[in-house]
Amino acid sequence: MRNSLYLIGLSVALASCASQQPVKKNSTKSKTPVPKVTSQVKPPTPTVPKTQIQHEGDYDFFKVNIGDISKNDNTISYGSIVSANPKGYKVVKTFFPSVAQNFRQKYIILHYTALDDDKSVTVLTQQSVSAHYLVNNLGDKDIYQLVDENKRSYHAGISAWRNDKMLNDTSIGIEIVNPGYVADASGMRIFPDFDDAQMKKVAALVKDIADRYMIPPTNILAHSDIAPTRKSDPGPKFPWKKLYDEYQIGMWYDEATKQEFYNQIIPEKYALEMNTAPFIFKYQAALKTLGYGLEPSGMVDNATKKTIEAFQFHFRPEKYDGVMDAETWSILQALNVKYPNK
Ligand SMILES: [Zn+2]
Repeated sequence: MRNSLYLIGLSVALASCASQQPVKKNSTKSKTPVPKVTSQVKPPTPTVPKTQIQHEGDYDFFKVNIGDISKNDNTISYGSIVSANPKGYKVVKTFFPSVAQNFRQKYIILHYTALDDDKSVTVLTQQSVSAHYLVNNLGDKDIYQLVDENKRSYHAGISAWRNDKMLNDTSIGIEIVNPGYVADASGMRIFPDFDDAQMKKVAALVKDIADRYMIPPTNILAHSDIAPTRKSDPGPKFPWKKLYDEYQIGMWYDEATKQEFYNQIIPEKYALEMNTAPFIFKYQAALKTLGYGLEPSGMVDNATKKTIEAFQFHFRPEKYDGVMDAETWSILQALNVKYPNK
């Protein structure tokens, strides 16, 4: 009930904002006679084109004013028109909205809860961790919102990707109910599958958020991608390739490019080279270029192994041993070709 009241509040705020910014209607009368509409079919509602993002230094700009919902629809679902109400003063909106603004929401981070449905709700609403959304595994159509998209939720922790750190500040966190891994007698981690119906929910949710905030594929990530030494969720069973193939969500490499890199590798030579400092430095730098928060050192330390493992969870889930083998190296290079970090 509270939620629905809040949503009503938001839409009222949006409606009042829209009424301050009336869209000018074209008053020029057409000279050609307009044919009478005999059917009840409604004319198609004109779609507002998505605004394009522009990069300048460390900043993202929009060519169109994203604060003006008469010019774009990116913020329509969750408009962030919140104003101060200082006692004795009046907030004037004559110069509102300014062109110089962007979205705070730059990333979507995916997690699994390692808990069942009930415990996931309890922990994420009553303890010191949270997420904006929780995707249950009950086979229904519900997706729970736990935190307003304009507020921070506590899901990422110490984290890094490309030039950003502490990604709670700039991300939307999505927790997915999944029991998490169990270790077998040899210590090998066994990760459970994700349910298909649940993945469809995740896909629809991610697509909606990514579209509204224009989040690029390079910024739709696993918790393990942004905190590889601490986290392994959502793990190697998370269907990144399927989400890419079927919903155009996130990053995936082109098979042909990967194969080209792979064909250049001479196995005997690679086996000798892969443990040398110059090559270790080179692949550490390539991981950093893609986005991982790894400083190249030329030495294989725990952070390097965990970063390779996180990379494999995401892009080579058939084998995740933390070793930069020829296939992993080819995939990494293919991704850096496709998603260059400028
Ligand atoms: Zn997580």
